[in-house]
Amino acid sequence: MKKDVIIIGAGPGGLASAILLAASGVKVKVLERLPTVGGRTSSIEANGFKFDLGPTFFLYPRVLEEIFAAAGTSLRAEVEMVRLDPQYRIIFGEGGEMHATPDIARMEQQIAAIAPDDAPGFRRFLDENRTKLQRMEPCLETPFLGWQDLINVRLLKMLPMLRPHQSIDTYLGRFFRDRRVRLAFSFQSKYLGMSPFRCPSLFSILSFLEYEYGVFHPIGGCAAVTAAMARVAERLGVEIRTDAPVEEVLFQGRRAIGVRTTTGVEKAGAIVMNADFARAMQRLVPDRLRRRWSDRKIARKKFSCSTFMMYLGVDGTFDLPHHNIHIATDYARNLDEIENQHVLSDDPSFYVQNACVTDPTLAPRGMSTLYVLAPVTHQHSNVDWSRERERFREKMLRQIAKAGFTDVERRIRFERVITPADWDTKYEIHQGATFNLAHSLDQMLHLRPHNRFEDVDGVYLVGGGTHPGSGLPVIFESARISTRLLLADLGLTSAAEPAPAPQFEPMNLEPA
Ligand SMILES: Cc1cc2nc3c(=O)[nH]c(=O)nc-3n(C[C@H](O)[C@H](O)[C@H](O)COP(=O)(O)OP(=O)(O)OC[C@H]3O[C@@H](n4cnc5c(N)ncnc54)[C@H](O)[C@@H]3O)c2cc1C
Repeated sequence: MKKDVIIIGAGPGGLASAILLAASGVKVKVLERLPTVGGRTSSIEANGFKFDLGPTFFLYPRVLEEIFAAAGTSLRAEVEMVRLDPQYRIIFGEGGEMHATPDIARMEQQIAAIAPDDAPGFRRFLDENRTKLQRMEPCLETPFLGWQDLINVRLLKMLPMLRPHQSIDTYLGRFFRDRRVRLAFSFQSKYLGMSPFRCPSLFSILSFLEYEYGVFHPIGGCAAVTAAMARVAERLGVEIRTDAPVEEVLFQGRRAIGVRTTTGVEKAGAIVMNADFARAMQRLVPDRLRRRWSDRKIARKKFSCSTFMMYLGVDGTFDLPHHNIHIATDYARNLDEIENQHVLSDDPSFYVQNACVTDPTLAPRGMSTLYVLAPVTHQHSNVDWSRERERFREKMLRQIAKAGFTDVERRIRFERVITPADWDTKYEIHQGATFNLAHSLDQMLHLRPHNRFEDVDGVYLVGGGTHPGSGLPVIFESARISTRLLLADLGLTSAAEPAPAPQFEPMNLEPA
C-alpha cells in the first residue's frame, strides 16, 4: 500500500488536508492549476493594493488552530489576527442601521434602537444557540457515509432542537419580532449562498458563532491564512506545485491510481480532490465510473448563488466601518430574483469591505481598498454578463453610495471586476456558483457528496462541495474528516488525534 497522496487544488480544504496528512507521515504532493495557492481564498495584488479574492470574514478559528497544532505550530504564531468590534455595520434599505457588537449590553442597545421589545431576545438567542452548537458539533465532525449514520443516538437527540424543516427566519421569530432584527441574525445564510427564508434553521449557529467566538480580520487578509498554511505544509515536506492543472484522474478499474497533468502522469496511492466538486467530476472523472454523481444527476442538483465582485483601489480613505452590509429595501424580492427568477435586481443587496481602517498594509499610504460584493444569480441563460457587466458596475457604484461610499469613481486608481461568468471560466467553478452545491436539507449530511467519495475508490473530497459544507471553518472540518478516513484506510493514525480509535470501518486501498 503506497502512503503517498496527490491533492488536486491548493484551496483552504486542500492545504488543510496537506498539513494533516504530512503531519501524520504521508508523502503529499499538491497540484494547483493557478499560479498561486489559496483558491477562492487567495488575493489580488496590484499597484500596492491587496484584496482578498473571496472570504473576508474569518470566523471560529478553533478548527484551524487545532490543525496548526497538529503541525507543531499555532495560528497566532503564523498570522496576526484582529478581533473586530463592531463586527460589522448593517444598513437596512427600509430604514435604520445596526453596529453588531459582541458586547452584550451594547448589542442590546443596538437592537433596542430599532425595536425596543426585541432587545431581551438577544440573550435568549445566545443561550439557546450555545446548546445547539454543542449538540451539533459531533454531527459536524462525523463523516456521513450513508443513511445509517443518521440513525445515531446523538443525532436523534439533537433533532427537536434543530427544527430541520424550519427556515432561519421562522426560527428567529421566537426571539425577535422586527423583521430587520431577524435579518441581522440571518443574513449570514448568504455565507452559504442561501436565502434566510429557505436556509434550514440549524444554520442560526452562523450568527451565534460571530457573537460568541468573534469576527476576525487576519492582517494581510484571509489570503494571509492560506499563504501561512502553504508555508506550514512545505515545512512538513509537502511539495506544492502551482501552474499545474490536473487534466484527468487515472483509474485502474474503479480505483484511482494517479493523475495526468499537462506535463505527464503522476502516480499516487490515493487522491484528495479539493477542486470545485461539480466541475472536477465532470472534467476529471469519467462519467461511466460515476453512479450517484453522474453528469446527468449533477445537472439536476441545486447550486448556490454567485457573486458580482468589484475590487477598487481608491485614492483617499473612508471613515466608515470595516464590514458594511446593505440589505435591499425589498429583500425577499431581491432573493427571489437571485434564486428563482435568475434575473438581476434593480436594488441589489451588497457588502463593502473597507479593510484599511483595520489593516493599513493593504494599500499605499492615504489610499484604500474597497471590496464590493453583490449576491447575484449563478450562471443562467437570463443573464449575459458580456452585456450586463458594465451596466451592473455602474449600478453598484451608485448602490455603494447608500452605505456612505460616495465620490468613488473619479478616485479609482485600480479596478478589477469578477462576474459569475468569470467564476465559471477563469476559476473553474460550476455555474459560477461560488458557494458550491446549495445547503438545502436534500443536499446535506449523507445526501452531500461523501468525504470518502462513494462513486469510485481511493478518492477523498475536501472543501465546500462535501460534508459539512461551504465556509472556512467547515471546510477545515471537511479536511479533518476526510483525512481521518484516508489515514484509517492507509492504516495510519492522525497527528491531529493521538487516540488511534477510528469510528468507521477502514477501507482496503490495495488495487483490485
Ligand atoms: C466571493 C466569496 C466570498 C466568500 N466569503 C467567505 C467568508 O467571508 N467567510 C468564509 O468562511 N467563507 C467565505 N467564502 C466561501 C469559502 O470559504 C471559500 O470559497 C473557500 O476558498 C472555498 O475553499 P475550497 O477549499 O472549497 O475551494 P477553493 O478555494 O475553490 O480551492 C480549490 C482549488 O482547486 C484548484 N483547482 C481547480 N481545478 C483544478 C485542477 N484541474 N487541477 C489543479 N487544481 C485545480 C483551484 O484553482 C483552487 O485553487 C467565500 C467565497 C467567495 C467566492
